[in-house]
Amino acid sequence: MSKHVAIVGGGVVGLATAYALIREGHEVSLCESHAQVAQETSHANGGQLSYRYVSPLADAGVPFKALAWMLQGEAAPLKFRLRLEPRQWRWCLSFLAACRSSVNQRNTGHLLRLALHSQQTLAQWRAQDGLDGFAWRSNGKLVVYRNSSSLHQAARKMSEASGQQLLDAAQCLALEPALEGIARQLAGGIYSAGDEVADCLRFCQVLEQRLQASGRYRRLSGRPATGFEHAAGKIQALRLGEESINADAFVLAAGNHSASLARTLGLHLPIYPLKGYSLTLPLAADAIAPELSVTDFDHKVVYARLGHQLRVAAMVDIGARDAQPNARRLSALRRLGERTFPGAGNYQQAEAWAGLRPCTPQGTPLLGATAFTNLWLNSGHGSLGFTLACASGQVLSSLISGRKSPISLEGLSLPNCNSR
Ligand SMILES: Cc1cc2nc3c(=O)[nH]c(=O)nc-3n(C[C@H](O)[C@H](O)[C@H](O)COP(=O)(O)OP(=O)(O)OC[C@H]3O[C@@H](n4cnc5c(N)ncnc54)[C@H](O)[C@@H]3O)c2cc1C
Repeated sequence: MSKHVAIVGGGVVGLATAYALIREGHEVSLCESHAQVAQETSHANGGQLSYRYVSPLADAGVPFKALAWMLQGEAAPLKFRLRLEPRQWRWCLSFLAACRSSVNQRNTGHLLRLALHSQQTLAQWRAQDGLDGFAWRSNGKLVVYRNSSSLHQAARKMSEASGQQLLDAAQCLALEPALEGIARQLAGGIYSAGDEVADCLRFCQVLEQRLQASGRYRRLSGRPATGFEHAAGKIQALRLGEESINADAFVLAAGNHSASLARTLGLHLPIYPLKGYSLTLPLAADAIAPELSVTDFDHKVVYARLGHQLRVAAMVDIGARDAQPNARRLSALRRLGERTFPGAGNYQQAEAWAGLRPCTPQGTPLLGATAFTNLWLNSGHGSLGFTLACASGQVLSSLISGRKSPISLEGLSLPNCNSR
């Protein structure tokens, strides 16, 4: 039976959910506080559809590495700023508790299951609906290591079953000649042939064009959702200031803001914003830039060719107050890019951006049921929201349609809420 679903959030997760619902014949009202979609974290992310490289940040050894990173100045992969904020302390304690290799492996398994389903879902939407126009490429992902002990450690966790291959330095160079500039520093790499890249902002815009063409979608933009009306464990309406939106089901896909909206209902979502940065560099006709998606493991920088541009993304700032770009961090990112792919173009002309990843301590998103019978979660996708969006949307659409989730939601939902 067709339902009217109200979604809060017009980022990649909310839009993919709307798209999956519309494909199943439902009607969607999407509430977005900005005038346009994808103006927050989905705007200029790394562009990686990193389906096989999904290990969460929380891992054994990370707390010690983090101490060393803090001494690296502005180029450090991670910076920590202590705030007088119990929310930060609670999140950091849970993060530290998740920094064990058994926990990391378990959560990597949950993320891999969702990520591979996401790849299938996007492939289906592209093939059946002709979705196009968002710089999508299936070019494989090469994670390069400058340090042989990190390479050996990663090789032990590598998933050959999902098509990953261990390469030496010469094989990395043969596969990606643009790495020539750092050839002498390379210890080797891990290649995932099936991984993809795309432009997340364009993807959101393409999804929305299709949604609008369906005639069963409307966007309420320019004002934030402020809360919910509820009775007897059921949501009756979404509140936008003075206005109320009635619907049969409600989806919270507001990224970092999902936690504060959920709090109005007494629900605690362990989502905390971790800031990151990107540069978008126009490529010259004779640019020597990577064709593959490349991750520089030691510096924690990702590179993706998106049409005629190179997207460079990196860094985690814990304790950032807002998404304002920090000029010193961006200069450090420019220097890292220049040293790795010097022939890609003029890094001074690159467009700079910063965004806040909506992160749970374990790195796994919160999908599915809540204590309210018709309120569903789709939030907390952290560093992998673009990668996971299509599957997350499809999972929610199945649940709202009254079917089982197409994949197990073990480890991917709010504890103590069984997905119906
Ligand atoms: C530097 C960086 C690089 C990244 N690289 C990658 C990558 O390569 N691959 C990958 O998979 N992921 C990557 N990510 C992560 C990815 O970008 C995020 O996980 C994803 O964008 C989250 O999408 P979202 O829809 O949940 O949140 P958002 O995109 O933030 O969308 C939430 C939306 O909800 C709206 N909203 C909030 N509150 C309200 C309200 N009260 N009422 C109405 N609307 C509201 C907001 O305006 C916003 O538009 C990266 C992130 C960063 C910062």
